[in-house]
Amino acid sequence: MAKKPASGKLTYYFGKTKTEGKGLGKILLGGKGINLAEMTSIGLPVPPGFTISTEVCAEYYGFGKKLPANLMDDVTKNVRMLEKELGKKFGDNQNPLLVSVRSGAAVSMPGMMNTILNLGLNDVSTAGLATATGNERFAYDAYRRLINMFGDVVMGIDHEHFEHAFDKIKKMCKTDMDTKVPAEGLKQLCEDYKAIYKKHTGEAFPQDPMKQLEKAIEAVFKSWMANKAVKYREIENIRGLAGTAVNVQSMVYGNMGDDSGTGVAFTRNPSTGENKFFGEFLINAQGEDVVAGIRTPQPTEEMPKWNKAAYKQLMEIKDTLEKHYREMQDIEFTIEKGKLYMLQTRTGKRTGMAAVKIACDMVKEKLIDEPTAVLRVPAGDLTQLLLPSFKPSAWEKATKIARGLPASPGAAVGRLAFTAEDAKERSVKGEKVILIRKETSPEDVDGMHAAAGILTSTGGMTSHAAVVARGWGRCCVAGAGEVKIDAKAKKATINGKTYNEKSLFSINGSTGEVAEGEIETQPASLSGDFNKLMKWADEYRTMKIRTNADSPEDSERAREFGAQGIGLCRTEHMFFGGERTRAIREMILSSDEGSRRKALAKLLPYQRDDFIGIFTAMKGLPVTIRLLDPPLHEFVPHDEKGQKELATEMGLKPAEIKSRVESLHEFNPMLGHRGCRLSITYPEILEMQVRAIVEAAIECKNKKIDVLPEIMIPLVGTKTELSLLRRKTEETIELVKKEKQVKGKLDILIGTMIEVPRAALTADEIATEADFFSFGTNDLTQMTFGFSRDDINSFLPDYLRQDILTVDPFQSLDVSGVGQLVEMACKKGRQTKKDLKLGICGEHGGDPASVEFCHNVGLDYVSCSPFRVPIARLAAAQAALRARKAKK
Ligand code: PEP
Ligand code: MG
Repeated sequence: MAKKPASGKLTYYFGKTKTEGKGLGKILLGGKGINLAEMTSIGLPVPPGFTISTEVCAEYYGFGKKLPANLMDDVTKNVRMLEKELGKKFGDNQNPLLVSVRSGAAVSMPGMMNTILNLGLNDVSTAGLATATGNERFAYDAYRRLINMFGDVVMGIDHEHFEHAFDKIKKMCKTDMDTKVPAEGLKQLCEDYKAIYKKHTGEAFPQDPMKQLEKAIEAVFKSWMANKAVKYREIENIRGLAGTAVNVQSMVYGNMGDDSGTGVAFTRNPSTGENKFFGEFLINAQGEDVVAGIRTPQPTEEMPKWNKAAYKQLMEIKDTLEKHYREMQDIEFTIEKGKLYMLQTRTGKRTGMAAVKIACDMVKEKLIDEPTAVLRVPAGDLTQLLLPSFKPSAWEKATKIARGLPASPGAAVGRLAFTAEDAKERSVKGEKVILIRKETSPEDVDGMHAAAGILTSTGGMTSHAAVVARGWGRCCVAGAGEVKIDAKAKKATINGKTYNEKSLFSINGSTGEVAEGEIETQPASLSGDFNKLMKWADEYRTMKIRTNADSPEDSERAREFGAQGIGLCRTEHMFFGGERTRAIREMILSSDEGSRRKALAKLLPYQRDDFIGIFTAMKGLPVTIRLLDPPLHEFVPHDEKGQKELATEMGLKPAEIKSRVESLHEFNPMLGHRGCRLSITYPEILEMQVRAIVEAAIECKNKKIDVLPEIMIPLVGTKTELSLLRRKTEETIELVKKEKQVKGKLDILIGTMIEVPRAALTADEIATEADFFSFGTNDLTQMTFGFSRDDINSFLPDYLRQDILTVDPFQSLDVSGVGQLVEMACKKGRQTKKDLKLGICGEHGGDPASVEFCHNVGLDYVSCSPFRVPIARLAAAQAALRARKAKK
């Protein structure tokens, strides 16, 4: 049931008589309505009108789609006020008042409902308009537009019927241009349109302007729940709004002759952020002509040649608006017979690059202060600066063929490669390829690395492909369910169309969309302004930002991006490639501890060298290394061909390999023999990894390289698991120290991940054994929801469509559920150890909303993939600033 308007007030007037909506906000009046009120209140030339609040829309739905009983009385009062202010009358036969009716929600929803213009025209007032303007053609043109728009938008008559009638008239008038049809022709057209209206609605076109207005208002409310509006809100994740407002505003005309015109503009360049008025205008045209793109508009720079005074006034208005809003504005204006009117203003949409420049420039211009600048730039938009992206104009025109999850941002163009080997081979030869797979596995990493981008048909935001791609800053779209892949036949089918290795795809990792063909890209661009903004962000944030990295290159890149340590080094990523793969497989296939240790000894030098590389790259910053985590079956081949090859390599029979692989099979591997459970069964794995870490640390120390290793034990659910493994770890550290005759201190923290709900519930006990907690929110989300992180995309779209979930919980932390566990574990952990270090290393660490949550629960740091480090820095600063504001 909708709430009754709290104020009981339904409409808000704006004009010279009074302005009622000022300062009431867009939630009540919609974006368009509030800004019309604001502009009027600061003395800008806005045609007067009134706004029906969004609460009325909620009431309309709350009362079974009926307009509130007293609404039309209120509307009539406002119309009377308008008549008085303008000296015109609704439906008058001399100089009629005409209005436009527009929707306007709190969040802009372009194209939700077409505007209805010229409302108030009827057979009588059209003649009046002809007299008042001395332009009969103009008057009947306006009338035919109204019947058409009203018939189409309000009554749902197919636009084509009107088109056909117009074509007939044009034929009769021997022209194919609308503008060449004379007044007589348009008069006839109005009659034909009225007949069409009657035929399709069973009633005559309403001659009573108040009736027209009532129906139009109701149509706007109806449009709120129209399919396309619901869909738009779904796609854009717009939730929690009461409804749309309706703006009824007196008409002004840009098509009254060559002294009239209309235009749209941004107060600054929305692509680059340059402080230069950026717009277009058309002479003798209505607003819709600019938007429809039928005629080519001129840049506003040309305006002074046409009307110097209006241009000067427009520039003054630009300054007034920016001073008032302290923000870049997107405006619409009309010039009627030389006089300028403002029809709309709103915060201008901009690219990430422009957002950074505008924020920095506005600080310089003293329009805003530094904290405001930090809050102005949407943290997620920084990716546009850090990674290549598609040119917005080109991407808009691209043929989109599928949509998946925006797993790793950026833009990639290439021909399809159906296997990792093909991707690698063809890339080496210089071809740009998109690796297209159902899902990737650790074995595919070479091909993934070689590919320009990765596209998978299954898998979620924390699937292998997503995590690995994000780490490298490689563009990836995951879980694009419409893509059916036949890897054997090297073919993919999307909605009935088949693609092969020659097919060119462009994939957008920032939106999750896939397009056909080669779409133009633009490179990443880091400016001085970016560094300035980051510097400000660093001053305001209180959380540290670490990175998830498992190679020296990624570590170095992350440090360049401002990472203050490594929060998660997934050691399993170091077990792939040549001899390493062989050794880990040998370890897994061993039947006794002795042969396992032998195989592990082969891995030791690789691990040690990797750690030396990472420690060296991190120059004394903390490095959290997680012991082996995935189930062992991930390291062995499952197909016959792979098993045969492995058998030859190991000197075993294929059947032996097959049987061992089968013995590793688990029904729920994610809940199976993985994480700390591996070290409980095979402590020698832990011993080798800890030894590698300690030996690497000692070697670095000997080379005067500062090191700060932290050993992290994954998937702990009980205190006893941790105490047992902690002891093993400490013993190994001591043993190696003794062997290496290290006398001095070697600071190595030992902590755990909190990623099993039981660990969160018993965090006070677990904290007795831990020097730090790092929240593994990927697994914690998986286990709290009972959603498989790799398969969620098979049902997630339904959950989002039906509003069961508002976002993918693997993308943005589920604050009210999983968040409770995190908050509880923080409290319980710190009850036991006041200074327990707390961080997060799940993928949520790079998501701005989740970063804000982490700040609010008191985490010391968040850790995310290298390319998201700047985003996390900015998001952490924004969280700190918002928390500060809320406290005040
Ligand atoms: C986690 O579970 O959040 C985590 C970081 O570990 P992984 O994604 O490697 O399971
Ligand atoms: Mg995990």
